Amino acid sequence: MRIVMKFGGSSLASAIHIRRAADLIARQRAEGDDVVVVVSAQGDTTDDLIEKAREITEEPCGREKDMLLCCGEQMSMALMAMQLEAMGCPAVSLCGWQAGIRTESRHGDARILKVEPDRVIRALEEGRVAVVAGFQGIDGTGELTTLGRGGSDTTAVALAAALGADACRIYTDVSGVYSADPRVVERARVHREISYDEMLEMAALGAKVLHSRAVELAREHNVRVEVCSTFSPQSGGTALGSECGHGQPVRGITCDDRVDMVTVAGLGAGPETCGLFNRLADSGVSIDVIIRSPGEQPRGGVVSFSVSAGDRETVRAVLNGCREELGFSAFSVQTDMAKVSVVGVGMSDGCGVAAKMLRALQEGDLRPQYITTGELRISVILPKTCASRAVRLIHSAFFEE
Ligand code: ASP
Ligand code: MG
Repeated sequence: MRIVMKFGGSSLASAIHIRRAADLIARQRAEGDDVVVVVSAQGDTTDDLIEKAREITEEPCGREKDMLLCCGEQMSMALMAMQLEAMGCPAVSLCGWQAGIRTESRHGDARILKVEPDRVIRALEEGRVAVVAGFQGIDGTGELTTLGRGGSDTTAVALAAALGADACRIYTDVSGVYSADPRVVERARVHREISYDEMLEMAALGAKVLHSRAVELAREHNVRVEVCSTFSPQSGGTALGSECGHGQPVRGITCDDRVDMVTVAGLGAGPETCGLFNRLADSGVSIDVIIRSPGEQPRGGVVSFSVSAGDRETVRAVLNGCREELGFSAFSVQTDMAKVSVVGVGMSDGCGVAAKMLRALQEGDLRPQYITTGELRISVILPKTCASRAVRLIHSAFFEE
């Protein structure tokens, strides 16, 4: 068998953690498998590096920031390879570019375009474990890029697809994919399996367990992804697959607590609204909930939409830049909001999910300001301070009755 094993930052936080992960790797190899390991940066290293850059400048250039952030994973890969060698398990560490991770030219959030894993294959043929730095790649001009926060998962799945691996196992600090974040909801349950579509929706809506591009790639290439705990690997975890016959309308409650609501007043309904969203799209801002109310006068419409808090400054700059041309009267940004969602593939042919969700919130005296529905989800936007309570109330309505 050929297996990709990916270890997250909390599974590599110290030398003891690295040793424990190395034990799992060596054991897998001892079973005769070809093993490729993908590592994240240790513990909070990536946050610490971002902070270091901030101590120098508020706006580091994308290229240099990526050069800095790549160091985190490089430390991990070298330490892991040393540990494996010290245990008598032949290993070699490879940076993203050495492992053939080719990306688009976009710093901080690059997509993988293709993987040329010749060197990884060579390492395997030599009987070594290939330890690859996650989260990084190289663009067509030879510049280092990073894949966005949480992007090591995507490195792992992309490698698994390119190598035709039998499985891509994601080792993390929780036991798999839960019905809600187990750090927020004590009685959250682990799913034995979950469909790619549900996982994709959950990842996009704030479940931190997997990077959404990793799920997208897994679905596209039919990679068998298993999420399990490094600390109790025997407890099974969650497998992602195309179908799972579970029959439950709701599979997960997610929370994204980095949301801003933007409200634009006096925006015409025709080319003006269209122009605004075009401009935001051109600046790489992705928008989720959109609500338009007609207002009283012909040009009195109000448009509200949610964006990621990380895009706040870009959104402000875009709005300031097109205000005159599009002729709207004012805009405001409500910060510190959260989006709480219920997700499930069975939701499309059931009814009553929204009613149940809103009832649960109402009973807790929570009144969401915005509500939106999709085929696989219903989301509400609330102040961030109420988010955890909202998740617990909704979880108890759907999973604990
Ligand atoms: N180290 C990176 C991060 O913290 C990538 C990852 O862990 O997947 O976002
Ligand atoms: Mg992660």
